[in-house]
Amino acid sequence: VTSPRDRAEAHTALGPGREFDAIRGLIARWGPAARGLGDDCAVLDVPAGERLCVSTDACVEGVHFHREWLTPREIGARATAAALSDLAAMAARPLGLVVAAVVPPAWRADFGELADGVAEAATAAGAPILGGDTSAGSELTLTVTVLGSAPAPLARAGAQRGDRLYVTGTFGGPLAALRALVHGVPPAAADRARFASPAPRVREARWLAGAGARAAVDVSDGLAADLGHLAAASGVRVRLELDRVPCVPGIAPLDAARSGEEYELVVAAPTPLDGHAFAAAFGIPLTEVGRVLGEGAPGVEAWLGGARVDLPRGHDHFSE
Ligand SMILES: [Mg+2]
Repeated sequence: VTSPRDRAEAHTALGPGREFDAIRGLIARWGPAARGLGDDCAVLDVPAGERLCVSTDACVEGVHFHREWLTPREIGARATAAALSDLAAMAARPLGLVVAAVVPPAWRADFGELADGVAEAATAAGAPILGGDTSAGSELTLTVTVLGSAPAPLARAGAQRGDRLYVTGTFGGPLAALRALVHGVPPAAADRARFASPAPRVREARWLAGAGARAAVDVSDGLAADLGHLAAASGVRVRLELDRVPCVPGIAPLDAARSGEEYELVVAAPTPLDGHAFAAAFGIPLTEVGRVLGEGAPGVEAWLGGARVDLPRGHDHFSE
């Protein structure tokens, strides 16, 4: 078994301005991570009885990341993981993805590393690369469109009164890493990993759906903001117990609740979910953090230390 990086060493770098050579180079570089490239469309089957789930996500230099904070490979993997996280939010099994890249001249030498990152995240999630496009342009932009299927996609709108709210994982790592980076300090390794190499919870989501979860959202804008989206979609008021939200060291619960790009999941379930079985299967916690209330205006009310607190808005990484 060779990594995309190993395979790259056996092939010639992309020729400038030669689209066909570039595609051949990518096919060689991606190896088994890609499937069926080269025709006008990707052709795929959706399993009988399942619904097709599609989402697209653009990742733009200067908006979603700074070049000096991440390696090209991490940038490619992170953009792909962010897109795949939306399949996780629906408990969809990935069928594959297509990627469109706008590549400025200053990025051409690193394009292969970006492509390796895309393949790394795609392979980790079991999503073959089915096609794509490249163009010259002024800002590096990776637009990843993911395709998946599920017998019963897990919508945001499914939460009902009395449901228990659970989160996967531990919150605040990306925010802790960004705080360090904007101050020119190296982040703690664990925080940097959460920021640079997020893991879409694709398999975890299907476990959760199988265990009875009936609404879900992935945390891209921050736990508070995304739980707010779930509450609005479901037309329910929810109570979030901030004391229960698992936080990385050095991050307080209110900050954890506004930390974006976590790519963890929030789910609502009518019956208790088995956190021990979940942790044994996936190596991350599953924590009950609140309830869907029986009445009140749709939205989130947060409690901390026995008192109501105001929730932060969705986090903007570059407003730190
Ligand atoms: Mg999402």
